Amino acid sequence: MTGKMFDSSGRLNIPEPSRPHEEVAIKAPVVVNAVYCPEGHNLVDVNRIVSGFPAIVVSFEDKKGGQGLLAVSPVLGDTAYLSVEGEVNPDEPLIFSCPHCGVRLDVLSNCSCREDAVTVLAYLYPRRDPHQAIAFCNVLSCPDSAVIRSGEAIRLVKNRQ
Ligand SMILES: [Zn+2]
Ligand SMILES: [Zn+2]
Repeated sequence: MTGKMFDSSGRLNIPEPSRPHEEVAIKAPVVVNAVYCPEGHNLVDVNRIVSGFPAIVVSFEDKKGGQGLLAVSPVLGDTAYLSVEGEVNPDEPLIFSCPHCGVRLDVLSNCSCREDAVTVLAYLYPRRDPHQAIAFCNVLSCPDSAVIRSGEAIRLVKNRQ
């Protein structure tokens, strides 16, 4: 580099960042790559892929005693899911728990889709902070079953009341 790094007035010569690159970055899907149960176990399993990314895997139970394992899309706003074990009823509220320790996921609030539906939390860090978390409805057919940031869920709850 000979004299090209600075212009004649001594100012650093740095090319402008290109616009198209910025737009790509904004449109890219937001994916959570780790979420934790209340006891700090990571629920993202690299062996279960949903929507092209390692999925959030939780144990489920329904009111009729059915149970199994469910993989939920880690992409924010994506309602895709995959039944890994057992038969899941997408119209019934499910009880979600950690497949590692069996502890139930914490409940953030009621969901407006039906009377007995709730929004559950998965934490972004191995500590139990509801403001650093994602949330999703326990009824898979609900549009709010997509993973969203808990901050948005808290706002939605406030707006409905
Ligand atoms: Zn756990
Ligand atoms: Zn719902």
